[in-house]
Amino acid sequence: MPVPKKRRSKSKKRIKGACWKIVPPQLRPCPSCGALGVSHSACLECGQYKGKQVIQLKQKDTPKES
Ligand SMILES: [Zn+2]
Repeated sequence: MPVPKKRRSKSKKRIKGACWKIVPPQLRPCPSCGALGVSHSACLECGQYKGKQVIQLKQKDTPKES
């Protein structure tokens, strides 16, 4: 297991902690429905990935029969 040779000083720790920023997620339009979504993952609007139905989406429009 790797062990650090020297203790990192307070200022070095703070300098490293200060120079990172939040990167916004890369959004791309879905090829089937056109909604924006995260790349390399199934579309949340139509549930398709690479032209296949991957997620069974719940249909909110249909009223419940009770
Ligand atoms: Zn889609």
